[in-house]
Amino acid sequence: METKRLVEKDPPLKKDDQIVLTGAGGFIAGNLARYFRKKGFTRIRAVDKKPLYEWYLRVPGVENLCLDVSDPDNCKRVCEDAIEVYNLAADMGGMGFIERFRVECLRSVLINTHMIEAAYRAGARRYFYSSSACAYNTLLQQDTNVRALKESDAYPAMAERGYGWEKLISEMFCEEYWCERGMKTAIARFHNVYGPHGTWDGGREKAPAALCRKVIEAIDTGRKDITIWGDGHQTRSFMYIDDCVKGIDMIMHCDALIATPINLGTSELISINDLLSKVEKIAGVKLKRHYDPDAPRGVVGRNSDNTFIKKMLKWEPNTPLDQGLRVTYQWIKEQYHARKQGKRVVE
Ligand code: NAD
Repeated sequence: METKRLVEKDPPLKKDDQIVLTGAGGFIAGNLARYFRKKGFTRIRAVDKKPLYEWYLRVPGVENLCLDVSDPDNCKRVCEDAIEVYNLAADMGGMGFIERFRVECLRSVLINTHMIEAAYRAGARRYFYSSSACAYNTLLQQDTNVRALKESDAYPAMAERGYGWEKLISEMFCEEYWCERGMKTAIARFHNVYGPHGTWDGGREKAPAALCRKVIEAIDTGRKDITIWGDGHQTRSFMYIDDCVKGIDMIMHCDALIATPINLGTSELISINDLLSKVEKIAGVKLKRHYDPDAPRGVVGRNSDNTFIKKMLKWEPNTPLDQGLRVTYQWIKEQYHARKQGKRVVE
């Protein structure tokens, strides 16, 4: 398949160019809104279907819209005057959610289908799509000591059921909107992202947030024990949110990466047991561990091969896990205690 074509140079991005972020009531796009605001952009439109009071971050100076972007008319409204569109809206969560709700995950295909068309019709210059390591062939992830996944490992395809297949087909849309229609698209395959202002409770949270919360609960209730999903030997790599938003910016604006899926994650592989030990160290406790073999646990091992990103961007996510976890733990602890007192902590 031919994916390369002549790349016309963009005019310089101006600080008052319209930027659109979907999923901005959620974790990554909320942090992205803050990142672009700090960079001095003055016309940022943040969109999410959640009511505003449920957004993790409401960034001053950003236009916030509560709209469902699986609806084509809403997408048209959302993309008005857009120069750049970052589509991060998706019905998603940790393993507990994506194993249980495969139909909901698949239905996110409507979001990208309508958003990319609306961005194209609005004449947007660039379009970003947040894919996932769940797009990779699951047969390559059956060992705790996995070979790190490189970009070509998505095909032959055997993605994570539901969620992973939606990501693969949406990637394909991005590739074809470039090939056939000439819209510059960017596709990052995120490996697990963690940090403040994300889901930490309620069933959609991922391992780092879930472990932080469970440790905080164990201390608060004085029970001093913890249940881990699976045998705790499953391995992953975890990327801090600041690296994620920086990586999104770099990938989106790299001409050599147009319509080319690329890993965005760290290559620091760690087991869930060791991750818990790090959280315990931060919290200053040691808990009795119980294991739930029937709980969802996803693939046995998954890591990011960063050869390609290092070659293309001369950079890779590099915040040490200990450092990022410390900040995350502190944030979740504040949320936990604020909620206990009936308060909400939002910026
Ligand atoms: P999140 O759940 O915190 O945020 C997603 C947001 O999208 C939510 O606030 C949700 O309300 C919103 N949304 C869902 N459907 C919508 C719709 N129809 N219209 C408008 N808004 C809608 O998730 P996140 O961690 O910020 O993830 C952002 C993107 O990155 C997603 O595409 C996700 O699949 C991808 N991703 C995340 C991770 C991770 O570790 N967090 C890993 C791989 C890929």
